[in-house]
Amino acid sequence: MTPELMEQGLQRLQKKAPPAAEQSSGDRSAGYSRVHEPGSLDLSHGRILYLEEVCVSFDGFRAINKLSLDIAPGELRCIIGPNGAGKTTMMDIITGKTRPDSGQVFFGSTIDLLRHSEAEIASMGLCRKFQKPTVFEALSVFENLELCLSGPRGVAAALWHRLSGLQRDRLAEVLELIQLSEERHRPAGLLSHGQKQWLEIGMLLIQDPKLLLLDEPVAGMTDQETERTAELFLTLKGKHTLIVVEHDMGFVGRIAEKVTVLCEGAVLAEGSLAQVQADERVIEVYLGR
Ligand code: ADP
Ligand code: MG
Repeated sequence: MTPELMEQGLQRLQKKAPPAAEQSSGDRSAGYSRVHEPGSLDLSHGRILYLEEVCVSFDGFRAINKLSLDIAPGELRCIIGPNGAGKTTMMDIITGKTRPDSGQVFFGSTIDLLRHSEAEIASMGLCRKFQKPTVFEALSVFENLELCLSGPRGVAAALWHRLSGLQRDRLAEVLELIQLSEERHRPAGLLSHGQKQWLEIGMLLIQDPKLLLLDEPVAGMTDQETERTAELFLTLKGKHTLIVVEHDMGFVGRIAEKVTVLCEGAVLAEGSLAQVQADERVIEVYLGR
């Protein structure tokens, strides 16, 4: 692993784990202080994420154009769309990396994400998996997961010895889920590309995310790895809320319930995969390229 990658990884972990002083600061909006109480995410309106009329321009170019989106708790939403449609930018906005010029972005019914930093948003349980796997290659599979278990919980880390029984159970459960139990002692650098992707998904799952965003999770995977990833996502369905951006239509067909088609920064169509694939506007956009 290069020093740059290690640095990036550490920065990501630090984002997930704001310093204790920051967490206890009284100078917080109502939304933020509430999210640190267990079960405080307000899902009473049947939505975990809500975007309304979001716009963002880069040097005068409208990358996101009045984008609205409504995600229910436990949903597995697939987002498809041609290159440049704004899929990654949409994830950047949800996770606080990019600030929109206008519009609203809410986590649950009460947390205004536009009032929070990227680090705060990550600490609320809104996690993102980037396209490229960024595991710690020199550490074992188990150690990678262990780091994430203790990372976001400063106080829990201090109580490691007391919590280790429970935490070890959770580690074993996640290892099983991502089908890496037998590889637990292998350095992550020796895993296949697909296995690294699963490990990184495990590193997010172990933090019990409330909402997980995944950008092209099966890019570069073999057919067999893609199929195993579909099985993993189907297992997660209902237990976690997932937003999956993916080009691989075979994969989308395997896992999708509701599909949103993005085009030119806005929603072009929404429905089952069969419904959107039969939509004339969608056909035009895909065939036009
Ligand atoms: P997708 O992920 O759907 O392929 P992106 O969200 O990456 O699309 O990009 C949407 C559009 O916004 C593209 O035209 C891209 O070139 C542009 N874009 C994205 N990020 C930036 C940026 N930081 N600066 C300038 N243009 C950007
Ligand atoms: Mg993209």
